[in-house]
Amino acid sequence: MSSLNEMNDGRSEQDSATGQDNTMSRKGFLQAAGVMAVGIAGGLSAACQSNGRGPSYPVPTTGTYKAPSGQSVPTSPPYSPPAEVPGDITKPIELEAWKSDADRKSPPVPNPLPADQRIGYAIVGLGHLSLEEILPALNSCKKSKVAALVSGSPEKMKRVAQQYGVKPESCYSYATYDKLKDNPEVQVIYIVLPNSMHAEYTIRGAQAGKDILCEKPMANSSAECQAMIDACKKANRKLMIAYRIHYEPFNRYVREKIQANEYGKPKFVDAFNCQSSANPKHWRHIKALAGGGALPDIGLYCLNTTRFILGEEPTEVSAYVYSDPENPLFKEVEEVCSWQMRFPSGIIANCATHYNVHDSRKYRVMTERGWYELENAYAYTGQKLMTSRADGEIVRQENVSITPKDQFAAEMDYFSDCVMQDRAPYSTGEEGLQDQRIMEAIYQSAREKRPVKLPLIEKKDAFRGPKPPEMQA
Ligand code: NAD
Repeated sequence: MSSLNEMNDGRSEQDSATGQDNTMSRKGFLQAAGVMAVGIAGGLSAACQSNGRGPSYPVPTTGTYKAPSGQSVPTSPPYSPPAEVPGDITKPIELEAWKSDADRKSPPVPNPLPADQRIGYAIVGLGHLSLEEILPALNSCKKSKVAALVSGSPEKMKRVAQQYGVKPESCYSYATYDKLKDNPEVQVIYIVLPNSMHAEYTIRGAQAGKDILCEKPMANSSAECQAMIDACKKANRKLMIAYRIHYEPFNRYVREKIQANEYGKPKFVDAFNCQSSANPKHWRHIKALAGGGALPDIGLYCLNTTRFILGEEPTEVSAYVYSDPENPLFKEVEEVCSWQMRFPSGIIANCATHYNVHDSRKYRVMTERGWYELENAYAYTGQKLMTSRADGEIVRQENVSITPKDQFAAEMDYFSDCVMQDRAPYSTGEEGLQDQRIMEAIYQSAREKRPVKLPLIEKKDAFRGPKPPEMQA
């Protein structure tokens, strides 16, 4: 470790009260001031005096800068406070602290790897999610960078390539997609296509020798999911399903508290994820492309997040599906799906998803002695967590505030880390397959108007990979 304090060489006098070396020679001061023409007008003696409670600021606090026009403006001489710069590039710089522990501790300073050490991503499909979230998030990634694009629209791809600095030779069409195998700057392919295309592009991507990050839902059937898992195994490539909630701090906090039985055992979950759509021509409303309606697109968050928080697998589902027959949006896919899941420990989850109401995304996990409620639970931003418990004669309800993270950047950097460290990802293909099996049981239950049983899985977190290093529970 080396210490950054560029003023040390210039210090010459010791503070009489503290014994601290906190003034500087004229030579040192001029070195520190660099090219700035700073005239010391005042403040020097005040700044160098100790107040008896510790060292004073070790440089003059005020000076004067003379502009080329002849005007003088007040300024301060440059100074670098002490900072720890670890020799290991993966460790963050530690700056001089100034806040008291009465306030929330700041997270470590961002610690991006140099561009040539990051994992290169090929983004496949330049639609809403890629352009609105993933590409902007790559700009704030620390271990990941965009290295290639794949699109059927040369015009759109050219513009996006210019905006994000992707070389023309790293832009591919769906026909030239397999040529990604010859691009050594791409280690990961991120599939951001309609659901019906996830299987094909995952399999072709693995065959091209790349690790795969695939958007949710993993595919449109459990047979497709299995084929994706098999293809990645055969090609010895990693496969991660983009369950961003697994890397989102509020949801992780709830999981941690539930796993620790902080307020007793969990007993009941109430979860819904609803939004409104309007374009019947969009692939989300075409069954062959989307696989279903609200359930696989957004209801999946209630399903997967409930499983994630509880760490258990449901043994039975009971469901109801409805579409307004007059509404052209829902000719092929369901408008609303409501379902219950029974878990081996006796927990019941009540879930619902809707494609035709105003945004509502929330859950409450009720435990023996309290509850956790997460507003905007599945949204990109805006999570609000409230907890409740009895405390003698009062009920204590608390808002828990956590520094939010860009969920897409966190997810991509996590997968990049898996690739760098050759670690299996947490959000596996098997996890995606399990969701698909449960969704198939939900549709079966609605169709047959009866509860549908699922195999008993006793192992906790049965389908997930090793916990990310910073995940406690
Ligand atoms: P979108 O319609 O905005 O984009 C899809 C893109 O795929 C299109 O722009 C087009 O470039 C490409 N494409 C190629 N062939 C196509 C075809 N036959 N029909 C339509 N588009 C075709 O969709 P989106 O919202 O970006 O969703 C893409 C994927 O990402 C889906 O699997 C979706 O479930 C998932 N998604 C995940 C999240 C999340 O939070 N993780 C959020 C939104 C979407």
